[in-house]
Amino acid sequence: MNIPPPVRADNKYRDLLKEIHSREDIPEAWRDTPIESFVMSQNFGWPIAATGKVELLIATCIEFRYSLPIPKMYAYVIRRASGRVIGSEFSVGYTLSQGVRYLIIIGHNDCGMSKVYEKAPQVVQAFIDQGWEKEVAEEYVQKQAARHAIKDELEALREEYLRLRNVFRKLVIAPLFVCLHDSKLYIPKWLSEVQHEGELNGAVPSELIRNLP
Ligand SMILES: [Zn+2]
Repeated sequence: MNIPPPVRADNKYRDLLKEIHSREDIPEAWRDTPIESFVMSQNFGWPIAATGKVELLIATCIEFRYSLPIPKMYAYVIRRASGRVIGSEFSVGYTLSQGVRYLIIIGHNDCGMSKVYEKAPQVVQAFIDQGWEKEVAEEYVQKQAARHAIKDELEALREEYLRLRNVFRKLVIAPLFVCLHDSKLYIPKWLSEVQHEGELNGAVPSELIRNLP
């Protein structure tokens, strides 16, 4: 599989991402936190000093063209197709109980989950090869494809950011976008627009929790 072109040269993403040239480009709320250390490590090669006090959870895609630049004792990690956390809220809750206060969610360009329907026949065949009945495999893939498919990587990241912010209201959540070409992190431009959008006072609606997959 090919490495896609850099996002800064790709018309699909170029105007929607903010480059991080230095520490000053990192939003105020993320400064002096493990979010900042992670960004500085990924973009500028700063070493990460693991303190043994783990306050960071990172969620990203299963994508093999991206590897996290983190040492052990630094962060919890959830890797799921498209990087969305939906369905893994229990894992988030567990890390919170262990001291996590920051969550980084990382989207990326050229995500396979934006081509799920195109790839569905191959996925069905992969299950059949494992001994699944054709009909069962098709039914399963149809159901899961609807859950996993994304139309656009940056839009899916935005929706997941807003959803998570509503479900985990005390967590500092940083949505980032990684370029598969050189593993540099970018900040979605929509972040400044949605930062103060919507009031998140009061209890999280119970229906929201009960309807989680
Ligand atoms: Zn992906």
